[in-house]
Order: sequence, then structure tokens, then C-alpha cells
Amino acid sequence: MSDFIRDIIDEDLKAGKHQGRVATRFPPEPNGYLHIGHAKSVCLNFGIAGQYAGACNLRMDDTDPSGESMEYVDSIIRDVKWLGFDWDDRLYYASDYYETLYQYALQLIGKGRAYVCSLSADEIREYRGTLTEPGRESPYRSRSVEENLDLFERMRAGDFEEGTHVLRAKIDMTSPNLTMRDPVIFRIKKEAHYRTGDKWCIYPMYDFAHCLSDSIEKITHSICTLEFENNRPLYDWFLDELSVECHPQQIEFARLNLSFTILSKRKLIELVEKGIVIGWDDPQMPTLAGMRRRGYTPEAIRTFCERIGVAKNDSIIDIALLEHCVRDDLNEKAPRVMAVLRPLRVVIDNYPEGRVEEMECPYHPQNAAMGSRKVPFSRVLYVERDDFMENPPRKFYRLAPGREVRLRYGYFIKCVSVVKDPGTGDVVELHCTYDPETRSGFAPDGRKVDATIHWVSAAHSLPAEVRLYDRLFHVANPLMKEGSDLTAALNPKSLEILDSCRVEPSLSDAAPGSRFQFERVGYFCMDSAASSDKGPVFNRTVTLRDSWAKIVEKGNTPTR
Ligand code: ATP
Ligand code: MG
Repeated sequence: MSDFIRDIIDEDLKAGKHQGRVATRFPPEPNGYLHIGHAKSVCLNFGIAGQYAGACNLRMDDTDPSGESMEYVDSIIRDVKWLGFDWDDRLYYASDYYETLYQYALQLIGKGRAYVCSLSADEIREYRGTLTEPGRESPYRSRSVEENLDLFERMRAGDFEEGTHVLRAKIDMTSPNLTMRDPVIFRIKKEAHYRTGDKWCIYPMYDFAHCLSDSIEKITHSICTLEFENNRPLYDWFLDELSVECHPQQIEFARLNLSFTILSKRKLIELVEKGIVIGWDDPQMPTLAGMRRRGYTPEAIRTFCERIGVAKNDSIIDIALLEHCVRDDLNEKAPRVMAVLRPLRVVIDNYPEGRVEEMECPYHPQNAAMGSRKVPFSRVLYVERDDFMENPPRKFYRLAPGREVRLRYGYFIKCVSVVKDPGTGDVVELHCTYDPETRSGFAPDGRKVDATIHWVSAAHSLPAEVRLYDRLFHVANPLMKEGSDLTAALNPKSLEILDSCRVEPSLSDAAPGSRFQFERVGYFCMDSAASSDKGPVFNRTVTLRDSWAKIVEKGNTPTR
């Protein structure tokens, strides 16, 4: 595999930079669950470390007490492990570096490169200027080193209220790069932190904490998303001004955007908090926890991340590609079983009452190694309601009055009459005959049928609930309009619950989290959290229809 980041690393290795070491890190802030966008960064950072025999650290970038929690830390650890990556004993926390970061700040003050500014937040914004106008220097910029040291120490000691003072780097208020106009590096926040408790009431800003955390961990290549391109000069400025042993190189790549999906923790929290989804691990969520519960495999997600690659320009990836990767992986791995989602009763009039045959059904049509199971066949079956039409149009080949079809792994049956609900007129039961000569799936006289349908035995099958998921949003770019209302973009039909499904009895020992192909219906995963008095719950992972293949066939570009 190659891309512009790996090219840079190859060059660095050739030039003998960092003594030939490659060290990366994945630095999530524990203020939400990881989503598929994070997976791109995880795969990239751990992938590079693996490829170059280097190491990738997992670092909690926890420098803001608001919104961070141990629950999120635990979820991040679980999800990165699940994706298949390992950081050995290199789990780090930026919050463990607070004292070191404080010492670095003192160093900057001592060099006359940082000062305590007592403008209000609004004033600081106003003084900053704009893209077209230079900023103005703060009246506090010329405070003496002694005064700055004293004020900063008292900030730490809790002598001041929030918002009264901040520590700023003294760089250049006329820089064309706004990030360089005396950025704030420490602020007062009288809020307990989930790890350090009340020990601190000043917290470092991202730009200051991030580059130094990288340096402390001796990271060689600090890979981040494009929106930090403007912050790179500041990243380098801090490391140049301070005496550090390691100066990592920041490299930016384009973040993942996915059609019909939102990848912003802030927005995802909104979905959770408003109760639009049942939690971070709702199978409709683009979080790794949600995808796991939905039945996505880590292999499929890694393949997806590999296929989208890394580039320097923003694009939106079609969600059909992700679904394609999931389908591809499950096609190989998922055992085939039979389940009827919307049951219609079928009585086989000429099949002996009380007789049960065990049909030997392979778990995978192309992979004999996956073995087989026995599926009981009897006089009363359920078939899919959709597989019957009383007045079929020309192109409907399945069951209809007088029509013969094949039962998967079973006999030919022919519909001879229908029973209707006298009140509604709905068809509630079919009467059929079977041909005992067709057990092999073929008629000895060579006659053909146009369709094969799946079925379960009424008496032997088990009840189940099935949840059919569609896209959570009905527009390709739910955040197109800045500040637009998320809820307006929601797909009202994103979840359909079918609570009277029937599944073949072999599923009685299925483990939560296991994945299946329900023949002719789709891929499903047994839910690990929900249970229902209607039997186990199966989440539809993905349909059988591959819209990605169609897109590629038509020659449309894979990304938009
Ligand atoms: P969000 O925008 O969802 O709130 P974030 O960038 O604030 O995400 P972090 O916890 O800071 O979330 O992200 C950890 C790492 O994951 C960062 O290095 C970030 O660049 C990367 N990352 C976040 N979102 C994406 C994405 N959509 N595509 C690729 N990488 C991402
Ligand atoms: Mg962030």
C-alpha cells in the first residue's frame, strides 16, 4: 500500500530522520464514542506502525474536563481492540502530562514568549482581527516575566475566577495566520476532571497540549485531519521555542465524510440525548459500537478504510461502498439459514399428518467446510407473504393459485386453494400439494419451476423479532446547510420492527452477536443487548442487494 503519508515516511527513513524510528498515535478525546471516521484514523495510524515495524500509541486527548468520562475511555478501548489493533502497554493520557505541560508553560513565560492576558473572551476575539485585518496587541502583552509568573502561579492556585485571565503565547498579532495571533495556551476552568478531580483549575488548550504530548511520547509522525493545517505553524512554534528532545512532523489528511451519515461527535451526542436513537450503540449509529451491534465485522471496516485510502482533498464517500465491503465479508463468513419475516401459513394437503423429515441443508453453498444442519419439514409450513400473489402480474414467478415452485432444499409444491379472512378478505392460508418425487429438488420427468422459495416448519420454527434498518438520514448530506436542523433530515422509515417472524430451529443455540444470511432476505446479526418476549432479536446488517456494484457497473465515479 502506498499514499502520500507513506511516501513521506519512506523519504524520512531514507534520510535517516528519527534514527529510522516510526512512531504514531491515535489521540481521541474521550467525549464520545468512536465513529467510522475515527476508524479511518485508527487504521491509518496503527496500519503505518505495523507496516514499518514501529509502534502506535493509544492516547486519550483529555485536556477538557467538560464532557470527558471514563465511560468514553472504556468504549474507545473496547472499539480499537475490536477493530483488531493492539497498543501493548502504551495507553497514555494527556491528563497525565498536566504537570509537565505546566512546566513547559513556565519555560515559555521565562523566555518572554508567553504572558497572562486579562482581556475578556469577547475582547480577545475582537483584538484578534480578521482574515483581512491584522489583530491588535493586548494591553497586557508587555507584562514583566515576574508579573506573569506570579499571575500564572495564582491562576493555578485558584485565586481567580474563570474568564478573568488566560495564558497566551506571544507570537505575532499581524500574522496572516489567525492561529498565530497570540493563541491562548492555558485557561481557568473550575470544573472537576474525570481523572485529575479537583487537582487542577487551569487546563491547557489543544494546540499546546497536543504537540507536547506527541513530543513527550517521541512520536515521529503526527497524523491529523486537514482542519489542523493552519495549526501546523503553531505546532512547530511551540516545539521550536521549548527545549524538547523530539520534534514530530505533523501531516494532515482528509477526514472521512460518508453520504447519508453524520460524523461529528457533537451531532451524534445530540441524537443520543434527544432520544432519537436508543444509545451510542444503536445499530443505526455510525459508531463502531453501533456497527458492531448491527453485525458489521472489523475486517469489513478495515477493508473499507483500505479501499478509500488517504488523500489531501475532501470528498464524500458513498455509503454503498461501506455496505459493499460488509456484504462481501459476510458473503464468505455468514452461515445460511432460513427465516420467514412475514409468515404466511401453508398446509400441504397430501403430506402425512404427524410426519417430519429432516432436510440436510449446507451452511454455505460454496464452502462445504462450514458443514450443514438438519431442518425439519412437516405438513404445515410458513413461507414469506411476499412470495405469494393471488393475482400475479406477468413477471411474478413465485407462488400463485395453480402455480408450482420449489422449496429450498425440499420438494416442489403447488398451490391449490387459498383461505381468506372473511372480515378483511386477506389471504391467511394457502393449501398446496407436494410431489414426493421431487425431494432432490428436481422432478424426475424433467419439468421445471421458475422459483425457489424459503420456508420454515410451523411447529418446529421459533419466534423471533427482526429489526430492519434503513438509512438514518434521507438526504445524502444531512449537514449541507450550516446549522440546519438535524431532525428534519431524519429518515422517518429508518427502522421497521417485525415482531412475528419465524426462524429455523437451529438458531435456538445461536449466540448473541452471531451473524447469518437469512436466505433470500439479507444478512442479520443476533442482538446482544435487546431481548423481546417475541424471541431473540435479529438486526438486519445489510441487504443482499449490492447498490455499489451497480454504481461501478454504470461507470459512475466511486466518490462524490
Ligand atoms: P468529531 O469531529 O467527530 O467530534 P474529533 O476530531 O473531535 O471528532 P477526536 O476524538 O479528537 O474527535 O478524534 C481523534 C482522532 O480521529 C483525531 O486525530 C481526528 O483527526 C481523527 N478523526 C476524527 N474524525 C475523523 C474523520 N471523520 N475521518 C478521519 N479521521 C477522523
Ligand atoms: Mg478533536
